[in-house]
Amino acid sequence: MSDNTRARRSIRQLLTPSLYVETVYDLPGEWLKERAITSIITDLDNTLVPWRDYRVAGELADWFDSLHKSGYKTLILTNARPAPTIQELSRKLNTKLVVGAGKPVTRFFRKALEILDSKPHQTCVIGDQLFTDVLGGNLVGCHTVLVERIGHREFVGTRIMRLFERLVKKRMGTM
Ligand SMILES: [Mg+2]
Repeated sequence: MSDNTRARRSIRQLLTPSLYVETVYDLPGEWLKERAITSIITDLDNTLVPWRDYRVAGELADWFDSLHKSGYKTLILTNARPAPTIQELSRKLNTKLVVGAGKPVTRFFRKALEILDSKPHQTCVIGDQLFTDVLGGNLVGCHTVLVERIGHREFVGTRIMRLFERLVKKRMGTM
């Protein structure tokens, strides 16, 4: 195998989620249990709520409640700038929070793991983007879950990244 092939393979692995589900609510409890996952790091915009809409829906609050009751530790890791509305959302959901991150840079995932006091193999990262959530989570060795984005509004830079994402998914046959 040439170096080139090896590099390509690992990039492919880094951009492949461990699991793909439509929404966070479809994340199977058995899947978490089988892997002895105890902590969940989740993206915010387009994963938990529509882009920049930080009102808490009952279904979302219930989901976090049931995770906490089952003993999971949770943290929201978002590249969004700090805002009182995000603080408020995280307080209502009873989660830890890291805002103003720069996913996929690994230092932010490591910070999240440190706050959760969790090892990568005990942790799953959930998000709607391959190049931030899945790539970053895989780089630090976490389990990764890709969800369908909620809604269609998003940051213009994200929309450009979606074009690349579509190309990658097509090449990998995950779309
Ligand atoms: Mg997102």
